[in-house]
Amino acid sequence: MFNKVLVANRGEIAARIVSTLQDHGIEAYVTASDADSKSEITRKADGVIHLEGYQAIDTYLSIEKIVKKAKTNKIDAIHPGYGFLAENPDFAQKVIDAGMTFIGPTPYQMKSFGDKIEARKLAIKTDTPLIQGTKSEMNDEEIIEKSKEIGFPILIKAAAGGGGRGIRLVNKKEEITEQLQNAKTEAKLAFNDDRVYIEKYIPYARHIEVQVIGRGNGEILHFFERDCTMQRKNQKLIEEAPASIISRNKANEIHETAINLLSEIKYKNAGTVEFLMDLKDHSFYFMEVNARIQVEHPVSEMITGEDLIWRQIQVAAQEDLNLDQKDINYTGHAMEARINAENPYMNFNPSPGKINKIRHPIGAGVRVDSGISDYDEITSFYDPMISKVIVHSPNREATIRKMIHTLDNYIITGVHTTVPFIKNLISEKDFLTNNYHTKYLDSYKTSIPEEIINIARIVAGFSFNRSGENKDRINGKMTSSWKLSALPQGN
Ligand code: ADP
Ligand code: ADP
Ligand code: MG
Repeated sequence: MFNKVLVANRGEIAARIVSTLQDHGIEAYVTASDADSKSEITRKADGVIHLEGYQAIDTYLSIEKIVKKAKTNKIDAIHPGYGFLAENPDFAQKVIDAGMTFIGPTPYQMKSFGDKIEARKLAIKTDTPLIQGTKSEMNDEEIIEKSKEIGFPILIKAAAGGGGRGIRLVNKKEEITEQLQNAKTEAKLAFNDDRVYIEKYIPYARHIEVQVIGRGNGEILHFFERDCTMQRKNQKLIEEAPASIISRNKANEIHETAINLLSEIKYKNAGTVEFLMDLKDHSFYFMEVNARIQVEHPVSEMITGEDLIWRQIQVAAQEDLNLDQKDINYTGHAMEARINAENPYMNFNPSPGKINKIRHPIGAGVRVDSGISDYDEITSFYDPMISKVIVHSPNREATIRKMIHTLDNYIITGVHTTVPFIKNLISEKDFLTNNYHTKYLDSYKTSIPEEIINIARIVAGFSFNRSGENKDRINGKMTSSWKLSALPQGN
């Protein structure tokens, strides 16, 4: 096992990984940019590697700086978390070349899945059901021809895309030529790679994904599935495990499909195989593999009692897992809500600022993953996630109830958060009855007229300065007295 591991990341995921390392007596180092030099995680870690600068490109994305400083600090292995360099094969290779272990897949596996056209080829090879669309690299004419063949609407997706970005809907054939050029320009800008592919658009679908750990010898263990259907602009907002929309037979079929795909390339590391299930006939299709730990891994940990970060580290250290598929079971139902510093009633605009006070909810079956404490700053240099709230109860209904009152007890002052929006959303009948799809929020009313918000604030007794420093704003508490149900509802 490693003696000293560097977590090349920040925020909640850095805190999450440090805690597992320390559980096992491994010295845990973290990277910290100038913007994060006083963050909570720098106090918890056993050592801090300072990355001069503020922008991600100068700090958490700086391969040279991180590898060099890790070496100087005698680091044995690097955990990349998610985002930043987690899916960068060049980083993984440089870590290996410097004589350290990369806690993740092999650079070859990362390349195969980072390129979604390559991933589709692997899916074809393994007879994995695939959404109708591109099967190999195509030039513009071939893409246009293919889109007419499958019929509109279609999606144009960036081969290097991720995080819900680089996906474009094309409704009719008259738009394809222009949209293709726009998609390519956008992909080039966002991912420095203008290759795109197309898929038939599935309007009413559920997002179901399988959590796995691959040992690198062809053996793949699954940790059941998650339902991440509640999304905004193709980005996950709420995640659950297991997926109660499908039967256990269907779930087993999806697990088998995921295992079959990954064992073909002897996948090593934690990974997720994402599927889209068409609500028309419940057939499911492969979408992509995320070759890293995911944001929503805690819901799988809650239902299985496993520490997936530890399994990931064990695989990287070539330790025996002492674990068979039949020993992995689940109980109850878990749900995660991503809490972002965004104003949900102002088009989810980022809401950076200083956190004056933060009180995470606590209770039986409640877990909060966070890297934020009082007086920490949410800056606009990095993503706006403050924390993740995860709850676990015997069944879905009880889990929703627990999440609602848990969010009621969340106090975050100084910035806007998604807390009131999520509470409102999970109280909707459609959510309670599990009757929604990936595009549900597209037609959900999120913009509440400012006058109504102000009236609600006055009723709730909060003074508020719209453009000012908003010292009195208490997000979590405000929702309990601020009757959101009295406000205009979406459908
Ligand atoms: P999940 O792990 O739940 O699938 P996401 O896919 O949204 O979560 O990605 C996790 C993190 O990685 C997010 O912070 C997201 O912004 C970031 N991310 C994912 N893919 C990319 C990419 N290709 N380029 C930049 N950031 C990415
Ligand atoms: P990313 O790498 O950005 O996560 P994905 O391919 O996983 O991209 O897709 C992200 C989300 O976009 C899915 O969860 C789903 O909601 C939506 N999506 C992707 N492909 C399709 C499709 N063919 N039809 C309808 N929705 C899709
Ligand atoms: Mg995805």
